[in-house]
Amino acid sequence: MIAGNNNHNETALDVALQQMNEAADLIHLDQSTRNLLSKPKRVLSVAVPVQMDDGSVQVFDGYRVQHNLARGPAKGGIRFHPEVTMDEVVALAMWMTWKCAVVDIPYGGAKGGIVVDPKKLSIGEIERMTRRFTSEISMIIGPEKDIPAPDVNTNPQVMAWIMDTYSMEMGYSIPAVVTGKPIEVGGSVGRADATSRGCVFTIIDLAGRIGLDLEGATVAVQGYGNVGSNAAFMLEDLGCKVVAVSDVEGGIYNENGLNTRAVADTVRESGSVVNYPDAEHISNDELLVLPVDILVPAALENQITGRNAKNVRAKVIAEGANGPLTPEADAILRDKGCIVIPDILANAGGVTVSYFEWVQGIQALSWTAEQVQRELKRRMTTAFEAVYSYAQEEKLDMRTAAYVIALKRVAQAIKLRGVYP
Ligand code: GLU
Repeated sequence: MIAGNNNHNETALDVALQQMNEAADLIHLDQSTRNLLSKPKRVLSVAVPVQMDDGSVQVFDGYRVQHNLARGPAKGGIRFHPEVTMDEVVALAMWMTWKCAVVDIPYGGAKGGIVVDPKKLSIGEIERMTRRFTSEISMIIGPEKDIPAPDVNTNPQVMAWIMDTYSMEMGYSIPAVVTGKPIEVGGSVGRADATSRGCVFTIIDLAGRIGLDLEGATVAVQGYGNVGSNAAFMLEDLGCKVVAVSDVEGGIYNENGLNTRAVADTVRESGSVVNYPDAEHISNDELLVLPVDILVPAALENQITGRNAKNVRAKVIAEGANGPLTPEADAILRDKGCIVIPDILANAGGVTVSYFEWVQGIQALSWTAEQVQRELKRRMTTAFEAVYSYAQEEKLDMRTAAYVIALKRVAQAIKLRGVYP
């Protein structure tokens, strides 16, 4: 229990290790497995020289981390962000291990990142950076080894460049090396909004269990990228009132509900939600403490911490982002009766449809939209039910329950495979 700990400067890795250790204590995980899972299996740090448009050469730092491969090939996205650090990528890779285990898809966890603000680069510079990074990590990625995907500030176009670069180096097309590709080059229908759809499935399942009527339920969404915006559309379509959304520039609020697709039009035209006319301006901090039924943090890590958790008034938090809440915030929210659907469950829809895309790529066939939706729903609901009922039975919060389920699966795979040599 860490309530009362006033360390608000925890890194994502501190948070990830603390979450794992809390669950490991509960299941009396043996020390050697715990030691193994506390470290990434493999970390590759690369320098990425890029010819800029002005003729100069800039060198960016990049990382690809594979946390644990006991359950299958490594899987996880690549982010472009100025605050990426190696430790952050390790934490994100660790979360992918648990996420894949919670939804029971046959992967281990990985993540990649480049320390860069892509808003300051031209499209050509982003393409050259992506291609050189792919080349630098090509010795550890591959359809049987490690399969990247989109994450913060990367998109289907970036995935197409990764697929093309890897394929050119190997001499033939290898679409299954990466997921989240455009449909025209082997992507899957339903991948683009899969993270949000999975998140909304968990919200629907939880609402059913706790008797929350989604018709008219109020929602705030932090982050209006792929995950936040699609979640907002889907929740509005379900009859929820999305009263506030935000992005890096700030937030907007309208107590009567925002037109979420019109907000997305504003973002396309002007670059930010803050230019939407029909709303009041609020800060990101204010958005997080609004008195709403459902809060969806869909931006970055460490947004709700010991500093602001006591002011949070949402009844339910569904973590669209990875790591938005610290353990200290979890403890405060648990005492307040706020129910948190943890990231490793709530945002697992993305990697689940990535798995479908990879399966389709390997088999060279394509599923229909109905097949993708049905399988996603089945896997998300199975995972939700397992986590929710375990939490009820053992009187745990859903994060701890999800961690216990994931840790047990990963530990069992490690035990069955044994120690080599
Ligand atoms: N970046 C996403 C995540 O954090 C998706 C990963 C994937 O599809 O491999 O879950």
